[in-house]
Amino acid sequence: MLKIHNPATGALIAEVPEASAELVAERTRAARAAQPAWAALPFEARLQVMQRFRVALAAEVESLAVTLTAEVGKPIRQSRNEINGLLSRIDFFLLQAQDTLAPQQVFDEGGTREVISFDPLGVIVNISAWNYPYFVGGNVFVPALLAGNAVLYKPSEFATLTGLHIARLLHESGVPLDVFVPLVGRGEVGAALLAQDIDGVFFTGSHATGAKIAQTVGARFIKLQLELGGKDPTYVAEDADPKIAAESLADGAMYNAGQSCCSVERIYVHESIHDAFVEHFVETVRGFKMGDPGSEETYIGAITRAPQLDVLDAQVADAKAKGATLQVGGARTAGPGNWFQPTVFTGVDHTMELMREESFGPVIGIQKVSGDAEALKLMNDTRYGLTAGVFTKDEARARALLAKVNAGSVYWNCCDRVSPRLPWSGYGDSGVGLTLSTMGIQTFTRPRAWHLRQP
Ligand code: NAD
Repeated sequence: MLKIHNPATGALIAEVPEASAELVAERTRAARAAQPAWAALPFEARLQVMQRFRVALAAEVESLAVTLTAEVGKPIRQSRNEINGLLSRIDFFLLQAQDTLAPQQVFDEGGTREVISFDPLGVIVNISAWNYPYFVGGNVFVPALLAGNAVLYKPSEFATLTGLHIARLLHESGVPLDVFVPLVGRGEVGAALLAQDIDGVFFTGSHATGAKIAQTVGARFIKLQLELGGKDPTYVAEDADPKIAAESLADGAMYNAGQSCCSVERIYVHESIHDAFVEHFVETVRGFKMGDPGSEETYIGAITRAPQLDVLDAQVADAKAKGATLQVGGARTAGPGNWFQPTVFTGVDHTMELMREESFGPVIGIQKVSGDAEALKLMNDTRYGLTAGVFTKDEARARALLAKVNAGSVYWNCCDRVSPRLPWSGYGDSGVGLTLSTMGIQTFTRPRAWHLRQP
């Protein structure tokens, strides 16, 4: 039995049976048998099913947000934002999928035509994280189903109830039970899925688990996409408005209690505006209300996974021991549940864990830099590469810098932003492959090259 606790209170809120290895194997065989009929439907039939899913999801935003908040500790407004955000992503997929998946004739000369068609991969596995279960799941299962795949879906063990609601809504909307198959449980269930007869693995989660999955399935030559962690930097140049930059970056660092893959995790500020920036940043952070995630006023909720508190404690202790200055926060909050104060350090450097390893919590380091060259060097001093940003009035300067940063997404005067119209991908240890954009629809297909010559 999987015991589900509310991370804000520690209370047990549900117990759900975990999928056994036998069930995983049986459900995979059923998905394999069901997928061809799903793929053989006219595209419009799958489109209509997913349109119904969108309507069903929209009708339940409020109750789904309450469930999400109860199981991950996310403030209720942010839970609502996430579900509404998935509705926008679904709109993008519904609008784009037909043209994107239609065969493309790319050559027609002298009786020879060349055409690309997009066949579904077949049966794919979607192993999901808990921090944005609607986003990271939806990025996969919505386009994958539209493209004609069957999906074996393992929600995170920390977002199981949400995962089961997603499955219920898809099934009620007309996705056959064997075409979208939820399999609930911890890492063992994910590992059991990898051992099945599958055509692709789409994973969102930590680098450590992603590396294990790559080792397990690498030699099978099936499609493998890994969306992993980050240590996302932003540089604030001397011509930026320190107040505007500080307010934006404080939100980028602390939203969802810093538990976002694209949270701002490192900040470099030009020495000439460093002090003014820090003053505004700390003031903004002090204004964030932490507490009951069910309250409309709350901005910082609970830490979803208790072990992350140890990571945060260790980063704080290491930064202090190496001479960083604690501006605010720095400790757990007493009481039941998992709580950590929003924490800001200055006087940090790259010898500190805080500036090297993903914090995945409301903890941020702000480092003084002398100019663009030093900022660029520090931004690229990481094994990760998910997002990076520059705050400056000068677009040309920002674009020149951002073109040299190793990151899948780059931001000028903004941060912590994901668009369904743009590909979402990482460099280095932030992963391989992409979701979102029209490329994030085609990624669930096998392109077939047709060489057609008239006799
Ligand atoms: P995690 O790696 O602990 O777990 C992710 C999923 O993998 C869970 O469903 C888990 O049950 C499963 N799993 C665990 N061991 C497994 C195994 N051996 N085989 C197969 N599956 C296994 O990560 P998490 O704590 O859920 O998520 C947080 C991490 O996800 C952070 O590092 C964050 O940056 C990253 N993330 C990345 C993105 C992105 O788009 N790049 C988005 C959201 C989260």
